[in-house]
Amino acid sequence: MNQLLDSFGRAHSYLRISVTDRCNYRCVYCMPEEGMNWAPRAEILTYEEIGRIVGVVAKMGVSKVRITGGEPTVRSDILSLIATVAATRGINDVAMTTNGHTLAKLAPQLVAAGLSRLNISIDSLNRRRFALLTRGGSLDRVLAGIRAARDSGLTPIKLNVVMLRGHNEDELFDFVDFCAGHAEDTQLRFIEYMPFEQRRYQTVPSDELRQRLMARYTTVVGPMRNQNDGPAEGIILVESGLHVGFISPLSEHFCATCNRLRLMANGHLRTCLAHEDTPSLRDLIRYGASDTQLSEAIQAMVLGKPIGHACEVEGGTVFEGTMTAIGG
Ligand code: SAM
Ligand code: SF4
Repeated sequence: MNQLLDSFGRAHSYLRISVTDRCNYRCVYCMPEEGMNWAPRAEILTYEEIGRIVGVVAKMGVSKVRITGGEPTVRSDILSLIATVAATRGINDVAMTTNGHTLAKLAPQLVAAGLSRLNISIDSLNRRRFALLTRGGSLDRVLAGIRAARDSGLTPIKLNVVMLRGHNEDELFDFVDFCAGHAEDTQLRFIEYMPFEQRRYQTVPSDELRQRLMARYTTVVGPMRNQNDGPAEGIILVESGLHVGFISPLSEHFCATCNRLRLMANGHLRTCLAHEDTPSLRDLIRYGASDTQLSEAIQAMVLGKPIGHACEVEGGTVFEGTMTAIGG
């Protein structure tokens, strides 16, 4: 099988798709409060176009797809897209990242559509702070969504937390307590804040969080990840059995083993967060490209993938664009 190799020998088996740049929340580190320049609807890939691209890359070695955004659940009929992707030959894992706001109702329908797994973002367990960080989000709705996801069997659930210096880092052990009773079906993951366009917050390096956990709990190194597991290196807290992962794009670059491609809401393929967008697959499709031409274009884009990015915990570069259009 074609392995979708880049010029550094990295094989690409994982496609993240931003299905919309819109969202029902406005997390402080992700979006401005107002004045977002949403892409006009006509510029956003249709489900048919996304399905076609997934079919092409599945033949090139992609086996895992993550549906993300923006908030994927605000795009109408998201279930039909999940069903299309899940039914694509060669795709054996369809995951989604969501803020969980509508999950209480949606979770069983996601399972029926063929979703394999779910990541849910939750940056505070304090109702007031949660509302501040999300600019109006409802902690109660997200907690209900987490319960519904568990009840529907969408497990293991990964709870994503972006720690911001001075804002929520004091909740580290609260998150552990919250998850500890659910270690069999819930994993906790801390994501380093990445500056897009400008550095608005201070990143809390993963190792600092790891050291705080190791000082308080008995820990062992988490199981070795396989290629589809993504970049979260983890530890297990022995007392509870909780798996805690750390996604450290800044302090522990995982560029050398990067297996991901990002299909942006507007149809551009980002082969690397630090790389300018490649030509639009949407335009190629709308100009009538055949599957062979699409596949050749994608291979050429992947060959142009840079070796890595140069963003650091402090200093270095910042990323271009918005996380929502690129797909977080
Ligand atoms: N709306 C969904 C959600 O919040 O889960 C999916 C899209 S969101 C962009 C995906 C993930 O990216 C979330 O876990 C979010 O916390 C994270 N994220 C957004 N902006 C980020 C940033 N600047 N640095 C690090 N993570 C970020
Ligand atoms: Fe929306 Fe997710 Fe960004 Fe929050 S992190 S504003 S929920 S896209």
